Amino acid sequence: MAEPDIALLRQIPAVATVLATPEAAELVEAHGRPVVTDAIRDVLAGVRIAMAREARPVPTAAGIAREAGEKLAARRASLRIVFNLTGIVLHTNLGRAQLADAAVDAAVQAMRHPVSLEYSLDTGSRGERDDHVRDLLRELTGAEDATVVNNNAAAVLLCLNTFALRREAVVSRGELIEIGGAFRMPDIMARAGTDMVEVGTTNRTHAADYRNALNERTGLVLKVHTSNYRIQGFTAGVDARELAAIADEAGVPLLNDLGSGSLVDLSRHGLAKEPTVREAVAEGARLVTFSGDKLLGGPQAGFIVGDAALIAQINRNPLKRALRVDKMRLAAIEATLRLYRDPDRLGDRLPTLRYLVREAAAIHAQAERLLPDVAARLGASFDVDVVTCLSQIGSGALPLDTLQSAALRIRARGSQTALEQFAARLRAVPRPVIGRIADGALHLDLRCLDAGHEAAFLDALAAGSAGHP
Ligand SMILES: *Cc1c(COP(=O)(O)O)cnc(C)c1O
Repeated sequence: MAEPDIALLRQIPAVATVLATPEAAELVEAHGRPVVTDAIRDVLAGVRIAMAREARPVPTAAGIAREAGEKLAARRASLRIVFNLTGIVLHTNLGRAQLADAAVDAAVQAMRHPVSLEYSLDTGSRGERDDHVRDLLRELTGAEDATVVNNNAAAVLLCLNTFALRREAVVSRGELIEIGGAFRMPDIMARAGTDMVEVGTTNRTHAADYRNALNERTGLVLKVHTSNYRIQGFTAGVDARELAAIADEAGVPLLNDLGSGSLVDLSRHGLAKEPTVREAVAEGARLVTFSGDKLLGGPQAGFIVGDAALIAQINRNPLKRALRVDKMRLAAIEATLRLYRDPDRLGDRLPTLRYLVREAAAIHAQAERLLPDVAARLGASFDVDVVTCLSQIGSGALPLDTLQSAALRIRARGSQTALEQFAARLRAVPRPVIGRIADGALHLDLRCLDAGHEAAFLDALAAGSAGHP
């Protein structure tokens, strides 16, 4: 290696000199001084290393600023919008429900302006944040009272901690669920300070099993909707109505954790039936919990509805404060719940429901219509055709009930590696396309591709295959 030319290295512009250029001023305007200063330091470090290694001209201050600008442009936000073409409508890893326009608008307003979050406009004194959704939830579920927390996991945790701290909670062995993302019922119970009492067996639990487990230490009886699996064959369970009576006899509340819990009868929309919250309340459970961003189609949230006295007790638990929702989500929740007052138009307004009820024939027609444009974007290295496929609701709702759908099937003429590389490039474009690789092909289920986003989708495909004919 040649000796570095110290005199030349001394001529490299200083950070302050680069910052003083008009090019850098523009960057500071866009990104802020600290970020731009860091980027300039990065570039300068690279320049010093390169010049020490080999003889090359000293870059100008403006040139360094431009290079820093390129570096900054390449840094994209980490949380990006993507095309969910996985065929899983409520994809937990892709953010579950997409909100209705009304909910988005409400959240934006709440972000921008002061809001009556905990302020009663009637009395001019302190109000409660739950008041904004309490009446709506009562109306939509038939429950006496309601409260809202961060998510359904928090709702279950809060109920357990309120009624079964250092006491026992009785639950069937067949319902000790694990939901993806480390929600395991036994772990939640332990962290809530509850002693879990398992009854029955994996496939069969009887009324007598619950009765025998009840004692003066029992704080709660728990029923959990087995969201993401079914136990089939030689099975027996105790239905919520009977279990509510057993719990009532013992003087402890029954908590029915519905998981997804729909506010409307989905069979009305041609889907399989998922228990509604109203039904769960009517069956006699004193407390019912469910998610905001699963079938309900709102933002992440957890709802607890039930007896007013029990909800009041929950609200006095100091953990409630730690688990509360912020004004943005509260605004979005209220707007989403309001849509349920007009069930006839729900299918148009709530994206989750709109995607779920899309007819296979319409998705197929969309795929056929896009096929020539897609083939043109992909070039000669790939074959693409339209195939039927099955979409899933996702997030543990109706796990066995799939929806007839249609996908673009992309196969590489080269190796499997070529296909995987293409899938990776589709994840690297500005608006990534997420599909599913199965049977040696990349499947793009079009159920969740809105007509208004088709052009952007084709752009993403073009970007993903650019330079790779
Ligand atoms: C999804 C689910 C949860 C967790 O709900 P989050 O809103 O994801 O926290 C809890 N219980 C059941 C039965 C579920 O299906």
